[in-house]
Amino acid sequence: MQKVTARFEPQLSEAVKRTLASGFYINGPEQQRFERAFASYCGVRHCVGVGNGLDALTLILKAMKQLYGWDDTCEVIVPAFTFVATAEAVAAAGLTLALADIRPDAPLIDPRSAEQAITPRTRAIIPVHLYGQTCDMEPLRELARDHGLRIIEDAAQAHGAQHGGHRAGALGDAAGFSFYPGKNLGALGDGGAVTTNDEELAKRIRALANYGSQRKYEHLWPGTNSRLDELQASILSVKLPWLDTDNALRREVADYYARHITRSPEVWTLDYAPGESCVHHIFPVFCRHRDDLQHYLSRHGVQTLVHYPIPVHKQKAFAPYNALHYPQAESFAQCELSLPISPVQPLEHTRKIVELINQYTYEND
Ligand SMILES: *Cc1c(COP(=O)(O)O)cnc(C)c1O
Repeated sequence: MQKVTARFEPQLSEAVKRTLASGFYINGPEQQRFERAFASYCGVRHCVGVGNGLDALTLILKAMKQLYGWDDTCEVIVPAFTFVATAEAVAAAGLTLALADIRPDAPLIDPRSAEQAITPRTRAIIPVHLYGQTCDMEPLRELARDHGLRIIEDAAQAHGAQHGGHRAGALGDAAGFSFYPGKNLGALGDGGAVTTNDEELAKRIRALANYGSQRKYEHLWPGTNSRLDELQASILSVKLPWLDTDNALRREVADYYARHITRSPEVWTLDYAPGESCVHHIFPVFCRHRDDLQHYLSRHGVQTLVHYPIPVHKQKAFAPYNALHYPQAESFAQCELSLPISPVQPLEHTRKIVELINQYTYEND
């Protein structure tokens, strides 16, 4: 068992046994219990458990499309640098993808670039709280007000992150969360949720996720099947009370990296996001010779990942966008390297990684 998960024994086994014995495996009391707890944690009125994070975003867009009479030509603005699911949700909802660049100093949508992407067909913006850092919402809200747009948060990496005293999930019109095992709040399989204060939207999403049905065998809309099952919900209920503690443990690792990695022309870090605005899903460093740094760390026993090597507009899946140019997104994709970070990472390990990075030089110039 992974160390991260082992900490929650025996409560996890108890939750699984309880669910097994209950006889409810789909649409039962565990789902309701978790939905209430997560809505309350995020500070919103409604939470709808769904099958995964991609579905959460897709269902929000499909519900808004129906409720507000959007058609296929209506545009949704997404940052060009994100996990691809943000863009795929727009395609899956049968809406038109529009892209904006990210800020030079953070992997977050640049409000000025978003403004330039607005056309008469624009209906929504999806700010992504990438790496666990909440977007600066004020300029986005201003754009939304001025142009009549909805704001849909992609909060899949930001469980518990705060902005202006409110948590991710409560910062826009609706938010999509993922409970993929590696996220800050992770299930032991797939899971996701929508949070919103809008009751009508929540009801429509719940129906669309359940074959377009509100009463058994009566189908009001062509829907889909996307549910948070009882086992995953019971596991999430065990882990939710520890989310803030886990985020604080991640923050200790991130603090150490930020204070001790020596910035150089070769390797640099972002300005450290203060306080609770970031829950450090990922700790990025940047290097002109990123692949070389990754091999060097790997030779010294440190495994790293790249989030993400190809920006949305360079993906084959989005061929019509391939000729576009978003310089900040491209630069992040070229230079980013994600250092190990988890709530159970020993200080010696973090210290060793910092030493290795501070000793690194690129020698093939
Ligand atoms: C993980 C993730 C998703 C998708 O969630 P799944 O549960 O894997 O479908 C969407 N957006 C971002 C930013 C993510 O990190």
